[in-house]
Amino acid sequence: MIIDKDTLGILSRAIERLDQGFSNLPEIAAGQNDAALAAMERVLLEAAARMQDNYPYMHPYYAGQMLKPPHPVARLAYSLALFINPNNHALDGGIASSAMEKECVAEIARMFGFESHLGHLTSGGTMANLEAIWVASQLRPGKLIVASKQAHYTHSRITGVLGVPYAGVEVDDKGCMDLQHLEQLLIHGQDGKQVGTVVVTLGTTSIGSVDPLPEILALRKKYDFRIHIDSAYGGYFKLVDNLDADAAAAYAAIDQADSIVVDPHKHGLQPYGCGCVIFKDPACGALYKHDSPYTYFSSDQLHLGEISLECSRAGASAVALWATQQLLPLVRGGEFAQGLSKSRQAAIAFYKRLSEDRRFVAPLMPQLDIVVYAVKARSASTSSRLAKEVFEAAAAQNLHLALAGLPRSLFARSQFEGGDFDWDQENITCLRSCLMKPEHLSYLDEVWLLLGKATDLCLAEVNV
Ligand SMILES: *Cc1c(COP(=O)(O)O)cnc(C)c1O
Repeated sequence: MIIDKDTLGILSRAIERLDQGFSNLPEIAAGQNDAALAAMERVLLEAAARMQDNYPYMHPYYAGQMLKPPHPVARLAYSLALFINPNNHALDGGIASSAMEKECVAEIARMFGFESHLGHLTSGGTMANLEAIWVASQLRPGKLIVASKQAHYTHSRITGVLGVPYAGVEVDDKGCMDLQHLEQLLIHGQDGKQVGTVVVTLGTTSIGSVDPLPEILALRKKYDFRIHIDSAYGGYFKLVDNLDADAAAAYAAIDQADSIVVDPHKHGLQPYGCGCVIFKDPACGALYKHDSPYTYFSSDQLHLGEISLECSRAGASAVALWATQQLLPLVRGGEFAQGLSKSRQAAIAFYKRLSEDRRFVAPLMPQLDIVVYAVKARSASTSSRLAKEVFEAAAAQNLHLALAGLPRSLFARSQFEGGDFDWDQENITCLRSCLMKPEHLSYLDEVWLLLGKATDLCLAEVNV
């Protein structure tokens, strides 16, 4: 069995309990007749057959993109909520699920060490970052938003959509924001505009690098700017104890930021449609002020739509997150934190094997749980071609990896520099593995074996 079916009984019992809450109403003929049931079953089985055409994200042999299955309790709670289909825009649409959302967001804020906060869930990290950058640009009108060149690509697009100026900051040879270039931008600005907000990425999407937050905070004392943390992928690593010293220092300082984004649908075991943005200063809620003539009548309490840019939003996301946080509280040393720790351990162990193996070059020590590795070759173009071949050969053996293009600058500390390696192109296509599932740790030997087989097949052809 690959897909969990054991938990479905819990769902029917929970739906029974939910139904009891509405027993004061006259019954409606909610039951289905046999023909309708048969038609639905036909369609659903067809959907199931079509869905077989997917990579097995739930399996540890899927060690590619940033994809992780939701926790069973999240899946069940989401499904349960669908029988109501609450809308967390206003309390009219979701009384209980709005309350659950506020509780979840408060726990996330506590995890980051925020003593005050205003925040909510969003449809994802892009929307969450858009809100944070929109707020930042309202508070620092006309000023630049800057983020590192390894930051998520959506930052330049978001600023484009918002019509606010944007500049990219260079990265160092570890893929972290370059402090010298940042300071140059802080002093001189760009195109006549001064920096208003620095987006600090704790966990870049491509390589998992962590920007040097403590040093950026020191610069904030000299130059006045806002700090927004994009930790859509990396935020939950706040809870683990096995980070390197630089990353640990960055996470320890996260409570100094003005706003933070984290995606429960990345490392938080949630179904898609769940991002989160939190602001330290609740007063920024005033920026969202708007009138909606047909909602907000049911209660004087805060409607989440009054503090978010999106209108309708799945209340089911909040119910799923709430259930998950009940089962797996966001505490250091807890079961949830241990799962992340294992991912991190898997990444370190995988990196170690790669570094000691003559077939690979792993240019960057992983800072979180993403490992990027090149196939050893005589030139950048051959290495890139081989990576694509290994990617295919591994997939043929059910091991699913991902590819990522890395600039030459990130190989500065690797054996590709200083020898007779031919840099016939400035980028190398590398293999990339997000070891996001805790099971990756216990499956590392198997993953390694399959990767080795795939690589040997590809290298054999080069040497013929
Ligand atoms: C994934 C990610 C985003 C985008 O979030 P979505 O949920 O995919 O919209 C933004 N920033 C970082 C660092 C990410 O990892």
